[in-house]
Amino acid sequence: MIFSYIVCLSGITNHWKKMRVSVLEIWAQLENVTNLKVTSQYEYHMKFKCNNCGTETENFMTFSDDNKVPLMGGKSFVNLIFKCKTCSRPSNVSVIEGSIRPYLAEDSLNFKPFVEFDCRGCDPLLFEPIDHFQCTNMDNTTEFNEVDLSELNWADYDERSNESVGIYDFKYRFTTVKKSTK
Ligand SMILES: [Zn+2]
Repeated sequence: MIFSYIVCLSGITNHWKKMRVSVLEIWAQLENVTNLKVTSQYEYHMKFKCNNCGTETENFMTFSDDNKVPLMGGKSFVNLIFKCKTCSRPSNVSVIEGSIRPYLAEDSLNFKPFVEFDCRGCDPLLFEPIDHFQCTNMDNTTEFNEVDLSELNWADYDERSNESVGIYDFKYRFTTVKKSTK
């Protein structure tokens, strides 16, 4: 009797568990392009802060959605595991499935959520847009797959529509939201 009561209670709390999600929001000025996005192979370059002692990671950590690292025991997978250099606490980071959203022409000059991360034991601090992004021209007839925003600006020429295209003044920020998970 008591046993089943406990099982039932823990089932309820698990069901309503709130997960803290870190959101990478981006801002840019888009010229004649839309659908700015990353693929699952995108290599993120990010710095984190340890939630236990506040130490920041020295170097940029790199990881991608496609690269799955087994957590201890191997029952679940994350995209990045690292240990704090000061307090040795382990942290792990995962790109949340289905969270990658394209930044559209109408989003231009506004911060919009771009990708969400599940960060356990750490918070994201810095993001460097080193790996290439993708975007398309306005009527989706030209794809640009080598959009280099490492200098925060990118410009090209769309021969199909005979106009200049570009992305300017790239900015980002991290926010957090709470989401219910099962
Ligand atoms: Zn630490």
